[in-house]
Amino acid sequence: MDIYRNNLAKIIENNFPPSVPGEINIFKNIISVAPMLKYEDFQEKALNQLARLFLNAGYFGEAYKAARLVPPGKYVEASSCVNLFENFPCRGLTVNLEIDANNNIGCPLPLSVKTAESGNISTQNVETMPLADFKGIWTKIKDYTSLLVLAGPGETFLHPKVYEIIDYVTPTPILIETNGNVQIDAERIVHSCVKELIFNVDAADQRVYEKFHIGGDFKKVADNVKAVSAAKKAFGKGPALTLKHFLFKHNEPYLEEMKLLTNQLGADMAQFIGGIPRPFHGENLIREFMPCGLGAGNCRVASVDFANQSLGLNDDLDSPYCSVPYLNPRIKVNGDVTVCPSSARVVGNIYDNSLLEIWSSEKSVELKKEILSNRYQHSDCRACARAQNNFGRLFEGTVMEREKPPTPSEGHTLWLSTLKIDQEYIDYLVSQGLSKDIEYFKKTNAIHPDAVIPEAFQAIQNATVNPAAYLN
Ligand code: SF4
Repeated sequence: MDIYRNNLAKIIENNFPPSVPGEINIFKNIISVAPMLKYEDFQEKALNQLARLFLNAGYFGEAYKAARLVPPGKYVEASSCVNLFENFPCRGLTVNLEIDANNNIGCPLPLSVKTAESGNISTQNVETMPLADFKGIWTKIKDYTSLLVLAGPGETFLHPKVYEIIDYVTPTPILIETNGNVQIDAERIVHSCVKELIFNVDAADQRVYEKFHIGGDFKKVADNVKAVSAAKKAFGKGPALTLKHFLFKHNEPYLEEMKLLTNQLGADMAQFIGGIPRPFHGENLIREFMPCGLGAGNCRVASVDFANQSLGLNDDLDSPYCSVPYLNPRIKVNGDVTVCPSSARVVGNIYDNSLLEIWSSEKSVELKKEILSNRYQHSDCRACARAQNNFGRLFEGTVMEREKPPTPSEGHTLWLSTLKIDQEYIDYLVSQGLSKDIEYFKKTNAIHPDAVIPEAFQAIQNATVNPAAYLN
């Protein structure tokens, strides 16, 4: 308890500069509570106040942690905070909804064990949510939803009634994540409530693009982005356009080209996330795709333990807390509800129950609490990139409740620090004229010391990649 309190006070003092734009008053209030936390005696009152302040500031995970330390029923704020987290969905949820499970392109790293085992790289003719079902679900969730995210793994724009769904949700803001391989009605989008459109790109040209988007067409993506950008200019409104890039071994040398692409296509921003193949993808795919740029910070995994199907994490790059399940449930096309968009854990089905029943079920409450206190205990959560951006980050740099990830077993473990680019891969890069890749891997010390970079490398030294060539 003392460690909690003292760390909290230290963190508040150090990490809440009162200059945070727009939040100055809240942070001033939090800072004013900090000295109370230094007292020797247990400060229920201060924790109660802190819970309220964190809640108002949107730091739900921390609010819940503080409130749980106050004896039940003693203070109204703390009790209602606990009640909110355990029994009622917060109003203002971000809800992810998959309206179509079909996909028109494949991925070499499927999201589920089942798809990986079957060898399927693409789903075809799976399930499409009927419009009437969508309307029924929307009736159940709309009072809690402040942002509706239409996202996969299926492709949203394959849904035959996608624009009717978008119109039906008005005026609730919508975020859509797409592979960009279906022609988008740009004018309809800019006149709708879609406030952000995210294109999964992961490349700046067709060669790199098709390695991760099997059967995909980079030009279609580029044309869609350019069309929506042009419609935005023409009508003076429309969604923010984001190009999202997962970084893997095959595309990390092209980070700069991906950055340039944002302006070239008229997008508003680019997002880069270290990609993480999972143990169920198997050693070959992990060797092929795991980012090598340890020095560049693209790889957040230290080891892959195949015997336990577990990832060992780079301790300094991760935080064990995650409050996403309190804010962002996902509803799959079959109605299954998972606690967050990245977790496979199903806690109910929206066709059978209300969101309130699902939210407050024992199974759901226990799972959310476990993840809030230490997400490492769930395999879905280990190395999850989504958790990086949540409130748990507040506590980084402290030792509070921090647990070391388990040491990988003696069985079959791949240590990524030893995973270097070998001669065979260098020969391949040379044969393709990919000098830029070699330069990048040299710079990040990712080339095996025994590998010989042949003289042929000199001949391709000046080869350059011109993403603009693919955009016309
Ligand atoms: S760590 Fe990731 S998978 Fe786990 S609950 Fe948080 S966001 Fe979801």
